[in-house]
Amino acid sequence: MKTVADLGDLSGKRVLIRCDLNVPLDDDRQITDDGRIRASVPTLQQLRGAGARVVVMAHLGRPKGQVKPEFSLAPAAARLAELLGTEVRLAEDVVGESARQVVDGLADGEVAMLENVRFEPAEESKDADERAALAKAYAAFGDVFVSDGFGVVHRKQASVYDVAQLLPSAAGSLVQAEVEVLQRLTSDPARPYAVVLGGAKVSDKLAVIDNLLKTADTLLVGGGMVFTFLAAQGHAVGKSLLEEDQVETVRGYLAEAERTGKQIVLPTDIVVAPEFTADAEPTVVAADAIPSDQLGLDIGPESAEAFAAAIRSSRTVFWNGPMGVAEWEAFAGGTRAVAQALTEVDGLSVVGGGDSAAAVRALGFADDAFGHISTGGGASLEYLEGKQLPGLDALG
Ligand code: ADP
Ligand code: MG
Repeated sequence: MKTVADLGDLSGKRVLIRCDLNVPLDDDRQITDDGRIRASVPTLQQLRGAGARVVVMAHLGRPKGQVKPEFSLAPAAARLAELLGTEVRLAEDVVGESARQVVDGLADGEVAMLENVRFEPAEESKDADERAALAKAYAAFGDVFVSDGFGVVHRKQASVYDVAQLLPSAAGSLVQAEVEVLQRLTSDPARPYAVVLGGAKVSDKLAVIDNLLKTADTLLVGGGMVFTFLAAQGHAVGKSLLEEDQVETVRGYLAEAERTGKQIVLPTDIVVAPEFTADAEPTVVAADAIPSDQLGLDIGPESAEAFAAAIRSSRTVFWNGPMGVAEWEAFAGGTRAVAQALTEVDGLSVVGGGDSAAAVRALGFADDAFGHISTGGGASLEYLEGKQLPGLDALG
């Protein structure tokens, strides 16, 4: 993988850089966790220090190809400006007249940002020609391209993959650092090696399990995914998140683990509530006795302790996805216990995923209590699965 140093003298050059600034916002569009923006700062400062004219590309949320003001990058640009200690001029469009003017107006060491690249329908298009046309418009804003948005390198998108075909390209220091940690996880990890999976992107994450079962010794399952496992074991799950069409696949995983001597650890108790609200009345029930009028919002205390013990006795741990709805205190216990256990691992502990990283910070854990906090959940998982990541391949 080429690095920024391989791009040569950048003084006076326009450097187009893909960052991941996809931060969580509250109802007033205030940033609730700026971790990804902070993680983007070192490469940007490096480029400014080299005298480059920096053009940042990024996305926020899922505007799905439409210009929606509530998905403007304005809050991210403002926070980035504070962290960089310099102005960040945000264009009003992605590749239109405003973008061109903002880029043309850059002096050496200055930073501009295009609007949310996902305002452009071609950004995420499955049609390679459509993406290539948009990438050409991006490429007109740069002399070289730097890929530093680790959270999106698993996406074959115009600002991640296609643009790298058109300009001399390199990985930024964040992508480099993330890949180095993932290499440590994949090449001969210290054992036992445990992977902890949770969160809400259930079908995405179920798909990675068969590959993870090949490398990890233990898989601990929490979050919304649990209920598909419980259903696969024949238990009722009430109103909990359930991927009916994945039940058979999950049954296959359980059988496979049995055959190969791997452990899939499921919760034995669950915190349920009658509705999906912060102040819903929590009750702890056995995992095989979820009432029909309740939904599971966290792993229970007994499970949290068992998960923590398994984590503490591992030498390598990768965790993606909160154990429950950790944004709400009543359902944060499992996530807190798992986070605490990761900080006690005698070996390498890695937390990956936007919501997972935000959750551990919101619960009061310091970043340096973990071996590494990755900015990418999906990207990390796909790497660990052994998949080729388009955004990394493009830098080869
Ligand atoms: P990450 O961003 O770390 O990859 P995800 O995006 O997959 O994680 O999932 C994070 C979300 O999962 C959180 O907002 C959390 O509230 C939600 N979640 C966790 N457990 C449950 C559950 N049992 N039911 C519904 N949502 C859940
Ligand atoms: Mg998420």
